[in-house]
Amino acid sequence: MFKNPNYVYGPMDVLVPSSLQFGEFLLKRMIGCKGKTAFINATTEERTTYGEICQEGMNFAVSLVHLGLRKGQTVAICSENRSEYFKVVLGVICAGGIITTMNPAYVEDEIRHVMKITKPSFLVCSPNVYKEHSRTFKSLGHIKRIILVGNEKKTGTLSFTDITIPVNNDNDNEERVIVNDRITRNVRYEEFEPVDVKGQIDTAFILYSSGTTGLPKGVMLTHLNLIIMCSFASTLAEATTLTITPWFHAMGLVGKLIELAQNRTVLYLPKFEVDLYLKAIEKYKVQIIVVVPPVLVAVFKAPKKYDLSSVQYVYSGAAPLHKDTSDLVNNTFPNARMVLQGYGLTESTLAVSRAKPDVPQKAGSVGSLQPGLTVKVVDIKTRRPLGPKQTGEICIKGPTIMKGYVGIENKEVFDSEGFFHTGDVGYYDEDRDFFIVDRLKELIKYKGYQVAPAELEALLLKHEAVADAGVVGIPDVAAGEVPLAFVVTQPGKRVTEKELQQFVAERVSNPKHLRGGVRFISAIPKNPSGKILRKELRKMAKHAKSKL
Ligand code: AMP
Repeated sequence: MFKNPNYVYGPMDVLVPSSLQFGEFLLKRMIGCKGKTAFINATTEERTTYGEICQEGMNFAVSLVHLGLRKGQTVAICSENRSEYFKVVLGVICAGGIITTMNPAYVEDEIRHVMKITKPSFLVCSPNVYKEHSRTFKSLGHIKRIILVGNEKKTGTLSFTDITIPVNNDNDNEERVIVNDRITRNVRYEEFEPVDVKGQIDTAFILYSSGTTGLPKGVMLTHLNLIIMCSFASTLAEATTLTITPWFHAMGLVGKLIELAQNRTVLYLPKFEVDLYLKAIEKYKVQIIVVVPPVLVAVFKAPKKYDLSSVQYVYSGAAPLHKDTSDLVNNTFPNARMVLQGYGLTESTLAVSRAKPDVPQKAGSVGSLQPGLTVKVVDIKTRRPLGPKQTGEICIKGPTIMKGYVGIENKEVFDSEGFFHTGDVGYYDEDRDFFIVDRLKELIKYKGYQVAPAELEALLLKHEAVADAGVVGIPDVAAGEVPLAFVVTQPGKRVTEKELQQFVAERVSNPKHLRGGVRFISAIPKNPSGKILRKELRKMAKHAKSKL
């Protein structure tokens, strides 16, 4: 009945629409500016309008239902950032499906792991991904249809173009929308009704995160989670934004949905190349850039060849930002006063807190709380809520916090008051501005990508010469953190650092490679119940490298 003086409450002015269908919400926000450019691929200059996203999204939704997608079934998208991405997302959500986004760089075992969690009935993938993994996809019994984006036709797959773009656009009088799995005319907005959902409890997205411990898990975000996250107003609605974050990750995916809901024009690069990136800023007079800290490191080091004076706001998130990096912002972007940091997690849909552009910022702060959220910072030992300037674990509650992890009981994830424990260590000051200082959880962040130590440990244990293994992150200027493995060898067996690095590199995607090296030790420090003492490993990582 009473507010806790040690809890921090975000602004409570959250407006909720009457329909809690996220697809409907998004369509309504976009349909009014059909002719406006939503996306520009800065590499190819291909443009996608808001009208195309709405039209093909609605057409795709109708096709999916025709092809047998039922409410609550999952559709996976596994593709590089490309123009069809948000048409697919919109279509799936409007069809009442759940979209799950997979890293296109995943190797077979990683694909199998996430597919086991979500068991998608449909898969939408790019030709590159299909070429690499078609055998794996076909071996998964739950995938009923594979839909290829782009123009390539492959036997056993459907073409996204065939089911979303009518052959003859003059077919407007045609009553039927689909004939023989082929769209015949465009769905009209006035006649279209997204599949009804219970937005407060029905899942719209399943993204992947390892949380505080273990392997990647399926984070369930509801329609309501997304509606609220995409409702927050922000400055510079008319601005052009440049992004290179991958769209399968919350920062790329939800970040873009927020921009679409605000009708911005988003420039994207399918792949980060610093020269192309800076050239795009000059050419398109970009006002806002959204980055992970390693991108800033690369940008600040690059030769100063381009006019970057259009940039007014530099947003950074997804990983800790070093003060030295932050201080350099003015040298490169003369009209950006400082880096505005945001802090968030996949489990919180996106931002928990963010620096506001119109308020003077404090160095190192990740800003103030987003509307609707309540945060308590608890003492790591006693679990008691702490007051200002006292460091503890950050715990969050509110309408943008996930529904839960797929297949995991909520009582294991939320405390008795409903707070989610982030595994991040930080504090708030007298003004209720937040600061992140450390990480309690196992997670390693390589260039903003999640690397779960448990996954690498399980993999190392598969090597015949490895008796035990523990993996931690070590600081790295360019990448933020890189994974380092401590290994105990089997008696009588020999293996080198290089061999183990190669063993891992052949079996997991790029961010998980053991760039921090391998150190051989006689025993992995563990507590009496067998839990790896990562703090000890981190301490050991600071000491001189031991040799076999
Ligand atoms: P992800 O779910 O991949 O977005 O990862 C979320 C995690 O990234 C958080 O729990 C933090 O450990 C880290 N993180 C995100 N933003 C920041 C930030 N601004 N400063 C420090 N760490 C951050």
